[in-house]
Amino acid sequence: MAKGLLALALALQALTPVPKFDSGRAWEHLRQLVAIGPRPSGSPAIEQTRKYIKEQLAANGLTAVEQAWDDQTPIDKVHMVNLVATIPGVRKERIVIAGHYDTKLYRQFRFVGASDGGSSAAFLLELAHVLKGRKNPLTIELLFLDGEEARLPEWGGTDNTYGSRHYVDVAKRDGSLASLKALLLIDMIGDRDLDIRRDTNSTPWLTNVIWETARRQNLDDYFIADSTRIEDDHLPFLAAGIPSVDIIDLDYEAWHTPKDNIDAVSARSLQVVGDVVLGALPHIEAHLSKTLILTGRRIVSRRPYKVLKANAIVPSRKRFRQPMFKTKHFRQSNVTPLTELGH
Ligand SMILES: [Zn+2]
Repeated sequence: MAKGLLALALALQALTPVPKFDSGRAWEHLRQLVAIGPRPSGSPAIEQTRKYIKEQLAANGLTAVEQAWDDQTPIDKVHMVNLVATIPGVRKERIVIAGHYDTKLYRQFRFVGASDGGSSAAFLLELAHVLKGRKNPLTIELLFLDGEEARLPEWGGTDNTYGSRHYVDVAKRDGSLASLKALLLIDMIGDRDLDIRRDTNSTPWLTNVIWETARRQNLDDYFIADSTRIEDDHLPFLAAGIPSVDIIDLDYEAWHTPKDNIDAVSARSLQVVGDVVLGALPHIEAHLSKTLILTGRRIVSRRPYKVLKANAIVPSRKRFRQPMFKTKHFRQSNVTPLTELGH
């Protein structure tokens, strides 16, 4: 019965026009978040940010569930809160779409994180609006992560990704990890000069689906063919065997500077990522549904992720910046067509 329903949901979804991502609404969220000011974990401003996120979700008929805990950082104990909004699908197996909403703590300057912390939260809020009005074959969970940023100036050790590590730990303990089938992580997508590279830590089939969708939408000037390796909130999920992709533009001149403000970001960049994520979603759902239909509710793949074992020698994205080159002038077309991805 569940198989029939799922096939029906996929068929209906193919017939129903996909609601559009509205970067105007996303931009308004981004503006509101930046207006709150610096929003580091544990601050009154991040509490105010949570209030805004909860209100906006409620306006779309969604309830934000708080996952709160106190975490010990190298400098202090910090109260942290992940926010989880669930949009039920035909099946309870879920795709998590996540992004962080904290901004990095700086005392020497005012850091409002328009792209870094603002764009991901604004993006998720607009996705809530779009996906609430969509017939979803799998459950969609929107996950607003706290504590992505390192508390110390430099990124290192376990002083980062507090929210994602906590979320995965809890999901392992309460058994909810078994129904988590994929993670799409959104981070720093506001850059006016958007160029998103493939992350070699991410799961190849998910990465291919995203980049192939961008190519079909003629957005491959933004989702470029270059690769880089990123440490971010997807690593705890990958380590737990969850297929994950990080969609991030770290080639951002304003990164971790006072210039990461509203002038450095654009609504157009949010629109590009919105179009690609929504365009890729049916392919991701089809891929996962095929696996679910073939295997019932059994968990099929819990392979440990090879790449992660090399983490000790992987330069951190926060400690190390590769020389970055703007490559929009080049058009590369070595992207695998969807037909070769097992779809
Ligand atoms: Zn950051």
